[in-house]
Amino acid sequence: MATTRSVPVRTCIGCRTARPKDELVRIAATPDDGVRVDPAGRLPGRGAYVCPDPGCYAQLRRRSGAMLRRALRTDDAAGTEAALDALATVAVHPEVRDRTVRSENA
Ligand SMILES: [Zn+2]
Repeated sequence: MATTRSVPVRTCIGCRTARPKDELVRIAATPDDGVRVDPAGRLPGRGAYVCPDPGCYAQLRRRSGAMLRRALRTDDAAGTEAALDALATVAVHPEVRDRTVRSENA
């Protein structure tokens, strides 16, 4: 089944490019658990999206997380910083995500 075209589009807060939601990493401001990286896109709360790309990650870091805090409408600077640290794993090594999606290519 070719269902890829029905995937919702979201805008990366780093480069402002609209991409299919599946190609972006979600960061969620959860009501109970603070700011969390949410690659599966399942956590509750307001979400922001960023490309799994070192350039976009660098954009977020350059502004000391202010862009991310604005996107999530949170004042949780420490939580945002921790989420950016966690995001580095995904953003700098996008193949980590690809492996889980394209495991049939092995
Ligand atoms: Zn981007």
